[in-house]
Amino acid sequence: MFRIGHGYDVHRLVEGRPLVLGGVEIPHTLGLEGHSDADVLTHAVMDALIGALGMGDIGQHFPDTDPAYKDADSMALLERVMIWVKRDGFRVNNLDATIVAERPKLGPFLGSMRERLAEAIETPPTQANIKATTTEGLGPCGRQEGMAAFAVVSLVGETVHGR
Ligand code: MG
Repeated sequence: MFRIGHGYDVHRLVEGRPLVLGGVEIPHTLGLEGHSDADVLTHAVMDALIGALGMGDIGQHFPDTDPAYKDADSMALLERVMIWVKRDGFRVNNLDATIVAERPKLGPFLGSMRERLAEAIETPPTQANIKATTTEGLGPCGRQEGMAAFAVVSLVGETVHGR
């Protein structure tokens, strides 16, 4: 049993919000706007896992109209997705994710994000790759109107009983 999932998310940058990426709070003058903590990286990872399980998308499971998810800690929501991964007889083989952000420079924080996400998806950090790119000032991310994230995960069946 082998599965691949892909996730993509975008959030708007605004003043007066914390910037949380991969469960790591990053000092910056702007933060991501959203119903939950708007952790765009963790949302992309969750959507990739949900996709690999064939369970639709993040919005179906964690609707932004539900007050239960107001300011929710996305790492706690990721924990719930991991329960489904294991319930269906899978484990995460690897993750590769890309954050699209013009500023701040994310290089110094990528290691912490990798550690946090690797722990959450129960892989060694070497199998949870997190990278960041700018768009050279082009487009909404380049104009710092928002940040985006892409994630790809592979799952392997722990048993023969995957759905
Ligand atoms: Mg989102």
